[in-house]
Amino acid sequence: MISRKSERELRYMRKAGRIVALTLRELEKAIKPGVTTGELSALAEDFIRRQKARPAFKGLYGFPASICTSVNEQVVHGIPGSRRLKAGDIISIDVGAEVHGYYGDAAATFPVGEIHSEAARLLRVTEEALYEGIKKAVAGNRLTDISHAIQVHVEKHGFSVVRDFVGHGIGSRMHEDPQVPNFGPPGRGPRLEEGMTLAIEPMVNAGTYEVAVLEDNWTVVTKDGKLSAHFEHTVVVRNGAAEILTRL
Ligand code: MG
Repeated sequence: MISRKSERELRYMRKAGRIVALTLRELEKAIKPGVTTGELSALAEDFIRRQKARPAFKGLYGFPASICTSVNEQVVHGIPGSRRLKAGDIISIDVGAEVHGYYGDAAATFPVGEIHSEAARLLRVTEEALYEGIKKAVAGNRLTDISHAIQVHVEKHGFSVVRDFVGHGIGSRMHEDPQVPNFGPPGRGPRLEEGMTLAIEPMVNAGTYEVAVLEDNWTVVTKDGKLSAHFEHTVVVRNGAAEILTRL
């Protein structure tokens, strides 16, 4: 069952989305060689709480921190801690916030200092793929029109799309129906309708799309140890272009 949100619900989701976007902007300013992922998480938690919101990942399915920090070959769900960032790293940060019972969710991958040109290309293509997907999040299209557009863009540039983790509906819960895969044929799945709210989130690997989970039971890594990037926005399906809730 895919819910369509009322304007009242969307007002809260806009609030949550804006806080997520502001948090990512604060984090981007703080990312530099020498900072630890734990320091970034503390900064995010403090910032979100000062906006009178709640860091939505904390405790979600038992996740132990306020944000996910995934460095280099880590794909998603990395746990912040004592790891110190180095120049040349890339770091994917996933932020969720809850306001008045409604959720926003977004992610971005950032360079740490100067990065290799191939890493920069991975970041660029992944963000472009997100926007290719968002372009298809229009009332009247089918769900997998989004999936297909993302996969085509990623593979055209020689990268691969993670299969084991996907985007999702979002609203009064962080994860609602439907699942939003980043791959597959177009023209399948439910027809998109005005007011549906989706978190679209391509996870893109430089090498194989295969992933593994580390012994902490959270951190997802690429099987071949190559880099991975992750960009995500929460959007509202409209009759025209989708409304992006997690962009400033
Ligand atoms: Mg998400």
